[in-house]
Parts: sequence; structure tokens; C-alpha cells
Amino acid sequence: MTLAESVDERALSTLPDHVSALVALPGEPGYERCTPWNVAVPVRPAAVVFATSAHHVAEAVRFAAAHGLKVAVQATGHGAVPVGEDAILVQTGAMTDCVVDLQTRVARVGAGARWQHVLDAAAPHGLAPLCGSSPSVGVVGFLTGGGVGPLVRSVGVSSDYVRSFDLVTGTGELLHVTPEAHPDLFWGLRGGKSTLGIVTAMEFELLPVSEFYGGALYFDGVDAPAVLRTWQEWSLSLPETINTSIALQQLPPLPGVPEPLAGRLTVAVRYTALDDFAEGAALLAPIREAAMPILDTVGVLPYAAIGAVHADPVDPMPCHEGQVLLGEFGSEAVDILLAAAGPGSASVQTVVEVRLLGGAMARQAEHSSAFCNRQAAYAVTTIGVPMGPAAELVPAQARALARALQPWSTGGLLPNFAPAADAARMARVYDEDTRHWLATLADRYDPAGVLKTGQAVRFSA
Ligand SMILES: Cc1cc2nc3c(=O)[nH]c(=O)nc-3n(C[C@H](O)[C@H](O)[C@H](O)COP(=O)(O)OP(=O)(O)OC[C@H]3O[C@@H](n4cnc5c(N)ncnc54)[C@H](O)[C@@H]3O)c2cc1C
Repeated sequence: MTLAESVDERALSTLPDHVSALVALPGEPGYERCTPWNVAVPVRPAAVVFATSAHHVAEAVRFAAAHGLKVAVQATGHGAVPVGEDAILVQTGAMTDCVVDLQTRVARVGAGARWQHVLDAAAPHGLAPLCGSSPSVGVVGFLTGGGVGPLVRSVGVSSDYVRSFDLVTGTGELLHVTPEAHPDLFWGLRGGKSTLGIVTAMEFELLPVSEFYGGALYFDGVDAPAVLRTWQEWSLSLPETINTSIALQQLPPLPGVPEPLAGRLTVAVRYTALDDFAEGAALLAPIREAAMPILDTVGVLPYAAIGAVHADPVDPMPCHEGQVLLGEFGSEAVDILLAAAGPGSASVQTVVEVRLLGGAMARQAEHSSAFCNRQAAYAVTTIGVPMGPAAELVPAQARALARALQPWSTGGLLPNFAPAADAARMARVYDEDTRHWLATLADRYDPAGVLKTGQAVRFSA
């Protein structure tokens, strides 16, 4: 469908008169700044509103409602889903305010803050924000999807630490959402992504953690069978003070990738331990003995270095993600993983990761939320670059691995990983009650369906 067929172009050209923020229409300077971090995802909205305040967001939503358009939101584009000409994109990337209250140990951030902003503000004071593996990821996108970070077994799901949201609803109303004021929205915004509105600011607790024991042990790809088998057995007995994942990696020879890891198959065992560092060091011994590491970054590290555990890529890239949640990860599943991504496998995935879940993640928090699938024991995630000859192969191999692991799959998925808008995925991200409640609340707070785009949960039709 062309723009002329889908949207009243004349109406759209009046958008800058109704929104006090910078606006870019297709072809205008700045429009290209809506390109997401995941450059493989087509983000081509009818217009981009570069919001710097909650009012800009509300103005964009009211304009869209009045003209039969939708509104999508993007901070960094790490979790991008396609955006087309039926939507205005609210780009929040400039709303990077971050204030830390040292007395109450609470951070307040704007919609565009990345975890790095919070780490910079909090870590020098011995306070830890519960970020994910990559400090470049947006705080609001991460926390509205629950947030499963490198300490999830020890501290639980990050969104359980949220205190409040400032929200623009689908009618353009501005609300301050807490467990007491608007408890329905407080429930749904933690896990429901942008289904119930656009968050313009939020507050969450910081933990008094200044250091951790951890990092990563890297092994040559030929040692993948020994290390993966050891990791599988070892992971069954770990206390919840220990967090770990293992990744079969084929990292490209690019700046920032350490020479011993570039251009070949390697294995990374990521590890974090809180509290008793001596115990943390002792518990890692079986992995150290599984094979000779080619690189060892494990030690007592300042919390500010939490991003070094996974060492995720920083620069924008084309990316395909697949994920399957498992109830168990036994020796048969190890064989399947090695056949799919081990030595001689012809895998085109950049990373095939198994993350140990469980521990505090499985426990409900004081305030229940729309985040489901807490009971999963492991998450298997594939990340590949769907370009050139691998364009078809990357998703095909990811699907094949998910199929092969099906016998141990919980059937669930996490809202933050492998983002997509299709209804079949939503039915796996949320249980039936949660889906029903989210859709009911969405109808209440967004009766015109302005936010019915991307990963929003709505009744169909
Ligand atoms: C390298 C990498 C590492 C990652 N590591 C982890 C990890 O360890 N744990 C984990 O849980 N996830 C992880 N993720 C997934 C990440 O948390 C999600 O993709 C998250 O949605 C990214 O948020 P963003 O704002 O950066 O991305 P964006 O693409 O800008 O936003 C993604 C989505 O978040 C929602 N959203 C963003 N802003 C708002 C807003 N203001 N109001 C309401 N909804 C909003 C929308 O649904 C939007 O489509 C990782 C992703 C990458 C690429």
C-alpha cells in the first residue's frame, strides 16, 4: 500500500503544527534517525516525532487518534519490530534524564535512558541498577518486558523493582502509575511492553551492590563438547547466588572483538556470583578444569563492569533472534545443541546461548505483574546476522534448533527476546488470563486502538 492510499498525506503534513517537538516526514532531514539498532528491521513510519517531553508524546497520540493513525515507540531500536506507514513513531532517544536518590536508593529515568546512563549515575555510589547483559539497551523497553539480567537467579526479574511509571495512554492522558494509583496499569506495564501506553519516565529501586565476582571463561571451539557437557551437569547443582550462561560463538573479526575470539568457533561461559566471592571462585572450579581457557576475564569486578560479562555488541547491526524456553536441559539436549552449533556443524549463527534461569526469577514479587513464564529453567537463544547467503539460513537454522528442542520446551517465550508482533507469539509470551487482562485494559485505556501496533496485546479484529 502506498502512503497516499494508507494515510491522508495532507493531514500528516499538519503534524508539525500540532506537536511542539521536532517532526520528520519521509524524505525530510532527520527521518533516517528512526533507523533502529537492529538495522534488519524495517522501521518506515508515516512520520517521526522526536519527543523530549511527555507533552510531545501526548500531542502525537492525540493527533494520531484524530486522524486514524497508530503510534509506535522506539528508544534505541534494540528490540525493534516493523513499523509501517500507518504509524507515527515517537522516538524517545533524547529523553535520557537520570536522577539517583542516594537516600531512598531509587533511580528516576526518562523514556530514552539506556542502562549505561543509570550505571554511570549509580555505580560510583555503590548502587546497582538491575540491567540486562548489554548496558546499551533502553531501560524502559527492558523493564516493560520484565527484564532477565545477568543476576536474575540471585535478585529476580528486574521489573519487580519498579516503583512507578509516568504514562501517556492511548487517549493522550498523562497518568502517574504506582501500586496504589492505577494498580491495573502498574500490573500490566511490567511485562506488557507498550500495550497499555507510552512510558515517559519511571522509577525503580537500586541494590546496594558495588562489586561482583564474575566475567567469562572462553574456550576453543574444539573443546565445546567437553565444556558444554560439564556446564550442563554443573548447572543442575548451582545455588541461586550463582548466575551463568554458555554461548557457542562465531564472532566476526571486527574492532572490539578480542583477537583470540575472532573469526572462529569459541565457547564462552559467563558467570556472576554475589555475596561470598571465595565461594563464587570455588564453585567455578569444574568449568576451569573442563578445558584450557584461551581467555579468562573472571575476577572481582566493580558493578560498573557488569556489561563485560556478556560483552554484547554495541554498534548497530542486522540481527535475527530466536528463543526457546526449556523446563530441562539434559544430555540429549546437549547433543542437539552440539550438532546444531558445535564443531563441524555448519552453523551460521553468531551466538547460540543457553542461559540458566530459576532461583529468584521463579518467585512472584510483592506486586504481581504481566510478566509470565517465571518457571522456565533455561533459555536457549540464537543470534545471527541475516545477510547475504545467510539471509534465509539464519532463521531456518534457528527454527530447526527450536523444533529439535521441542521435547523439553515449556512452550513459553519471554517478551524481551526475539521480538515480533504476531498473535501466535503473544500466545506463548503470556498465559491466557494475562493476555485477556492486558487486552481488556488496552481496550479501556486505548479505545480507538492508537497503540494497537508492534508487540501490543489486543483482542483480534
Ligand atoms: C544486545 C542485546 C542484549 C540484550 N540483553 C537482554 C537481557 O539480558 N535481558 C533482557 O531481558 N533483554 C535483553 N535484551 C532485549 C531487550 O531488553 C529488549 O529488546 C528491549 O525491548 C529493548 O528496549 P529498547 O528501548 O532498547 O529497544 P526499542 O527497540 O527502542 O524498544 C523495544 C520495545 O520496547 C517497548 N518500549 C520502548 N520504549 C517504550 C516506552 N517509552 N513505553 C512503552 N514501551 C516502550 C516497545 O514495545 C518497543 O517496541 C537484549 C537485546 C539486545 C539487542
